Amino acid sequence: MKYISTRGGAEPQEFCDILLGGLAPDGGLYLPESYPQIDAAEMAEWRELPYHALALKILQKFVSDIPPCDLKAIADRTYSANVYRHCRPGRDAGEIAPLTTLESGFHLLELSNGPTLAFKDMAMQLLGHLFEYVLEKRGETINILGATSGDTGSAAEYAMRGKHRVKVFMLSPEGKMSAFQRAQMYSLQEPNIFNIAVRGMFDDAQDIVKAVSNDAAFKARYKIGAVNSINWARVMAQVVYYFKGYFAATTSNDQEVAFAVPSGNFGNICAGHIARMMGLPIARLVLATNENNVLDEFFRTGVYRPRATAETHVTSSPSMDISKASNFERFIFDLVGRDAATVRGLWQQVDAGGSFDLRGTPHFAAVAGYRFVSGRSSHADRLATIRDVWERYGLMVDTHTADGIKVAREYREAGVPMIVLETAQPVKFAETIREALGRDPVRPAELEGIEDLPQKVEVVDAAVSQVKDIIVRNC
Ligand SMILES: *Cc1c(COP(=O)(O)O)cnc(C)c1O
Repeated sequence: MKYISTRGGAEPQEFCDILLGGLAPDGGLYLPESYPQIDAAEMAEWRELPYHALALKILQKFVSDIPPCDLKAIADRTYSANVYRHCRPGRDAGEIAPLTTLESGFHLLELSNGPTLAFKDMAMQLLGHLFEYVLEKRGETINILGATSGDTGSAAEYAMRGKHRVKVFMLSPEGKMSAFQRAQMYSLQEPNIFNIAVRGMFDDAQDIVKAVSNDAAFKARYKIGAVNSINWARVMAQVVYYFKGYFAATTSNDQEVAFAVPSGNFGNICAGHIARMMGLPIARLVLATNENNVLDEFFRTGVYRPRATAETHVTSSPSMDISKASNFERFIFDLVGRDAATVRGLWQQVDAGGSFDLRGTPHFAAVAGYRFVSGRSSHADRLATIRDVWERYGLMVDTHTADGIKVAREYREAGVPMIVLETAQPVKFAETIREALGRDPVRPAELEGIEDLPQKVEVVDAAVSQVKDIIVRNC
């Protein structure tokens, strides 16, 4: 399988060649040259498989330059039930991505039982094993530099901890994450993990990462890399749980289902789109946003208008607080019939700080054929949904999942199971849970007392030079 750029200006490449990079050299995003198709016999066989075996089947469709036995070893290591054991008290560990039925035809697919209690583990864990494998083969090393306000940074650190040839330098705004999130990251003692707390806001941390990455000489000398959400392998890893959810919610491969996806950077739901393109019978992909409704606006109106950072709301589902959706270009590439010139034109406008408008074009008319619908949620909706789900089903959901449930309810259809993707556990967002329910969130037993563990973190000013110093000292 070769990979091409959404902007048409890059040589087709094999999987391992695009794994460690971010954007294609022409500024586009990588996608497979064509989507592998799943036939009826495969669907019948896959229905019976446990998660790690299902994942291997799907990886094999997309990766042709890693020998099958090596790929199997990677999948087995990545999808060990032991990694996904952090389920809430009273729930059953041992299954990866278990489906919980809330009521007839309405389900939750639990994706947040990994080490950091957010679905990002599902993809990041695979990335960790793939990075280690490819770096070992090539005799190379990488120093991952990132900024986080919570979920992504911790998922990356837990995926890369103890990995050979990989170091992680993760910036976070000092004092801005919850005590639980700080404990998750800073209690890691592995020598290849470097937590750096920046005296400032998330944007200051992000600006430092950009400044370091724009210093080409430094970047090359210290082999600076990223694990950002546009990485193709992260999208690919997520295709698997759509198949898993489908098989768990249906009894025959003739049935259709709908998925509701709490969305920010469009990575998660992009994987759903790809699963559908491969032939998975998905009737609807329901995209849910919070107050930051860039994507909802597009699916309702045909106008894609990324916001200025200052226009981005700080909400109680913070992992969906985005001003532009970095994976959206992948979907638009398919929507415009894979015409790279059209994508180039549209993103010329976006990259210049503008927007684009597909109203009245055949492209926007085609959206319905891709089965997308959308909706948005507010803080009040979130609280009401958390309360309602708690009272009705005795289940505590996090703020992002609540946004998904709220919008999913607007699109339920008789005879079509609706599967809401659970993207995090409530303990990560304790403040809002207390506001909604007047009680503390439940947490997995293994993580009791995590706040009391010794922490390893270095505090710096919001200065590029101080961060560079830490990298230089440790490489
Ligand atoms: C990252 C994240 C999202 C948004 O996912 P995208 O792939 O960026 O659309 C939603 N919920 C939680 C808890 C997240 O961490």
